[in-house]
Amino acid sequence: MGSCREHLNPGGLAVSDILRSMSFLLGIDIGTSGTKTLICDARGRVKATATADHTVESPRPGWSQQDPGQWWAATCRATRAVLRKAKVRADQVGAIGLSGQMHGSVFLAGGDKALRPAILWNDQRTGYECDEIERRAGGRRRLIRMVGNPALTGFTAPKILWVRRHEPRVYEKTRHILLPKDYIRYRLTGEYATDVGDASGTLLLDVKKRQWNRKLISLLKIDPDLLPDCHESHEITGRLTAAAAKALGLKAGVPVAGGSGDQPAGAVGNGIVASGIVSATLGTSGVVFAHADKPIYDPQGRVHTMCAAVAGKWCVFGCMLSAGGSLQWFRNQMAAAEMAQAARQKIDPYELLMAQAAKAEPGCEGLFFLPYLTGERCPCADPDARGGWIGLTARHDRAAMIRSVVEGVTFGMADALAIMRSMGIAVKSVRLSGGGARSAMWRQLQAEIYDRPVVTINAAEGPAYGAAILAGVGTGVWASVPQACKAVILETQRLRPHRKLAALYARHHRQYQRLYAAMRGEFERMAKL
Ligand code: ADP
Repeated sequence: MGSCREHLNPGGLAVSDILRSMSFLLGIDIGTSGTKTLICDARGRVKATATADHTVESPRPGWSQQDPGQWWAATCRATRAVLRKAKVRADQVGAIGLSGQMHGSVFLAGGDKALRPAILWNDQRTGYECDEIERRAGGRRRLIRMVGNPALTGFTAPKILWVRRHEPRVYEKTRHILLPKDYIRYRLTGEYATDVGDASGTLLLDVKKRQWNRKLISLLKIDPDLLPDCHESHEITGRLTAAAAKALGLKAGVPVAGGSGDQPAGAVGNGIVASGIVSATLGTSGVVFAHADKPIYDPQGRVHTMCAAVAGKWCVFGCMLSAGGSLQWFRNQMAAAEMAQAARQKIDPYELLMAQAAKAEPGCEGLFFLPYLTGERCPCADPDARGGWIGLTARHDRAAMIRSVVEGVTFGMADALAIMRSMGIAVKSVRLSGGGARSAMWRQLQAEIYDRPVVTINAAEGPAYGAAILAGVGTGVWASVPQACKAVILETQRLRPHRKLAALYARHHRQYQRLYAAMRGEFERMAKL
């Protein structure tokens, strides 16, 4: 097990030498459905992006795994593609940054080939192991004090215990356990290393001290030598080997920065690197993310606290499972007419749905939608929670039903924001991204429900862009991550809440929260039917 090193010199070269020889930065993001590559110049201007797909296997209900070999093949394909698209020569790429899906576990004996498929962030097989970890740590609250988070099925430590219990022969052969982007780092550089942000999602890092938690690792009887060295995200962790350079179409020796998990790296890509700025990303899931100068925890573990990709700083975030996913469900199940009309007009069906939603009254005359279509993670970690409309009357029409879905999802996001405010996190403005932010109506509604100004920015590439910025900081293009973000990320729109509507939504939000509280026991009973 490596310590968290202070700083690594990027291979003995003077920074000025690197700057002179370098014009472009490459970011690589190992996602779940694909790997994305991005090239930007030393002023942060994105030249091109490319993606190459992966497949997820689910050999049993609730299982989710992927062959790490696919990530490597996709990295090679997408890197060659982005170089072509950006018309950048191999010798012009000066540094590489990595980002990737968090929590996934790769078990290696020493060679390139993983001993078994990587178990992914959304795999649900480890319920027993999560209980075991809390027990061995001396309870949930003690565990949160040790590593900043409660044991969740998606995290890495329970996966390690699962493999040890169910696949002892794999475990015996294992010499290294790596996170997804760190497997790619190993293929690129031959180094076993990670960064403090991604390592926070293993449940084995002392998030406060930014180093492996030796005590918990020992209580779980995990051999610490299985874990990689742990760095700050901008630090250079190794250099491209000749074999990797050949596979990617690059030059050997390019420095590879620590990078981070997709959440902390995405925060860099969105410029969430200073106190007061919070982001709300409405994709299929919804993530509310805040920067924190100090390691603060929710004692109930409803939001995650992790090391940020900014040296010596932290982040807090909450994830709701069916955010944009709720509207997607409505589109797929109830909007055949809009889908057909949109196909005829060659427009996005969401535009038609949002235009209808805009016609309904704010607050939908007391109609609420609970967005727990796939259970919930934040604010209530409850796999039994279910979705539904409540408050329907004969007056309600389709427009109100659509609007209530959008309002309900936004209330769910506001729940995470409320938890953060209760932890003392300042929320001066909220940066919007994800598919939901494409709609002007949903942007304004977020301003009202969050009761804060909402902002859109010029950068939309998320984690791959954050990874490229981290590579730039690691090689001296920018002095620090906040300085880089200040230089390259600009506000494009700012919307303020209307006072009256903010007050109306504050009342409705309180009612929305009471509905789940009233239904919680019923959901549990319903799950046992
Ligand atoms: P993913 O999370 O799958 O990467 P996106 O960030 O593109 O995807 O988010 C997709 C979600 O964004 C959709 O499920 C939908 O709820 C929402 N969305 C996409 N386009 C629009 C739009 N024009 N108006 C409102 N919502 C939209």
